[in-house]
Amino acid sequence: MIGESALRGLRELHTRRAMARRVRRLTRELELVPPFGARDFAQRLARKRVYIMIEPRRMGRQPIYGSCKPDGEYYHIYYRDDAGAILGERIIWHELGHIVLGYVTPDGHEVLRRDLNSEEERLVELWAEAMETYAGSGRTQSRANLTGLGRIIDDLGKAR
Ligand SMILES: [Zn+2]
Repeated sequence: MIGESALRGLRELHTRRAMARRVRRLTRELELVPPFGARDFAQRLARKRVYIMIEPRRMGRQPIYGSCKPDGEYYHIYYRDDAGAILGERIIWHELGHIVLGYVTPDGHEVLRRDLNSEEERLVELWAEAMETYAGSGRTQSRANLTGLGRIIDDLGKAR
């Protein structure tokens, strides 16, 4: 009898492998060669008629890290202006994950630390983690939760 947590572990591993394949395929389709950043990736999505504008935004004391809003032909991605380079990049990858995986409602989406454990957010995070790892190193292997956004927010003491 296999336990529930073992099953969850297997599903997670399966999802990670699927995400790694997806990330490699998409990178090839977009003719990107690692290393590249989230902004390079976003710009290259124009080849698939996905147009993205990325801007820092003052979010002050609100418990929000980033947001993504469709607007006609465009998606606007906003990230905290006080996030710093590493967290800022990771927030952008997270929002790109919503767009690539098709999880953006017409009302848009916001990154809240407390929401990062939902099923949809977990998938977006797996994608973002696989993508950022591959974009940076050309490798798809990453240790569990090494670059999870929730983890980065917590480690940097930026949780609101
Ligand atoms: Zn999200």
